[in-house]
Amino acid sequence: MSERVWNFSAGPGTLPLSVLKQAQEELLCLPGAGASVLEISHRSKAFDAVLEETQANLRGLLEIPDGYRILFLQGGASMQFSMIPMNFLQGGIADYIVTGSWGQKAVPEARREGLVNVAWDGKATNYDCVPNNSDLSLTPGARYLHFTSNETIQGVEFNFEPETTAPLVCDMSSNFLSRPVDVSKYALIYAGAQKNAGPAGATIVIIRDDLLKSVKENLHTMLDYRVQAENNSVYNTPPVFTIYMIMLVTRWLTTEIGGLQRMAEINQAKAQILYDAIGKSDGFYRGHAQLDCRSRMNVTWRLPSEELEAEFISAAKQEGLVELKGHRSVGGIRASIYNAMPMEGAVALRDFMEAFRNR
Ligand SMILES: *Cc1c(COP(=O)(O)O)cnc(C)c1O
Repeated sequence: MSERVWNFSAGPGTLPLSVLKQAQEELLCLPGAGASVLEISHRSKAFDAVLEETQANLRGLLEIPDGYRILFLQGGASMQFSMIPMNFLQGGIADYIVTGSWGQKAVPEARREGLVNVAWDGKATNYDCVPNNSDLSLTPGARYLHFTSNETIQGVEFNFEPETTAPLVCDMSSNFLSRPVDVSKYALIYAGAQKNAGPAGATIVIIRDDLLKSVKENLHTMLDYRVQAENNSVYNTPPVFTIYMIMLVTRWLTTEIGGLQRMAEINQAKAQILYDAIGKSDGFYRGHAQLDCRSRMNVTWRLPSEELEAEFISAAKQEGLVELKGHRSVGGIRASIYNAMPMEGAVALRDFMEAFRNR
């Protein structure tokens, strides 16, 4: 494995090495199935067991209360930008908090189905913070409030839930499973798997029963949450391999890491290593996000010039630290340090940052 690098990709992101090894070992024959998970029916007993364990692991890790369903859907987190308003807006009005690029992308899709009130938008400061509850202009009787718990591109993260009387809907794609969450506060949580939960191909949706009951009539079958729930995500062929990988990742989180509280401590420590390197750099490195809403998953910063940023990225690559280029809308550097990035990776990047600055 000597050629594996420290991969700071924002998504698809790095996966735990032990999970990749197990997938490699089981690729030809899923234990008990006599064939690869890639080759068996999604309605077989062996795949039933995969689906069941994946759901049980998620329920255990997130302590999901009764009264919620777990779905595995396709079309990415981006499809949820459309499915949510199609199912629940019904010509009404919904509140959207926009703290970065992903929240911004969700709004026009909702506008196709009804009215959107942007309850807060961080554009004026180039999305470097999240609002306080008192900053939100919420709509009485809104169908739901949508927010993005972690903005992957700008690197800003909520460390609380926005307060609302409307059903709370959250795009948790890039900090899903990174810390404990009080699921009971949410009506719907969704997360594309490829940031923190597995490879691309599935979006995990955790949806409360009362919201399921309120789905609009006569929707296209595949876009109707009720159909997906009634058929336990196998109305059609689901992304079987991705679900299998989510099973391995959630098993790793449960047994090797020891749960989300422990994962949160590790993530906090990794992020602190990088933010300390920024803080101690005498202004050579400048963090994009304001201190109280810095992401623990995507660390974003600038250097004194674009030339130095380009040099930083290419010199880092020479040392086996890759995928550090910031998104074009923010520029600079972005280091994504999802669950599967080991502490050693953060330390290696910190050491490189110090050496580069000294040089
Ligand atoms: C990556 C990402 C998305 C888009 O996910 P796709 O699965 O590519 O559609 C949406 N929201 C957030 C917060 C993301 O990080």
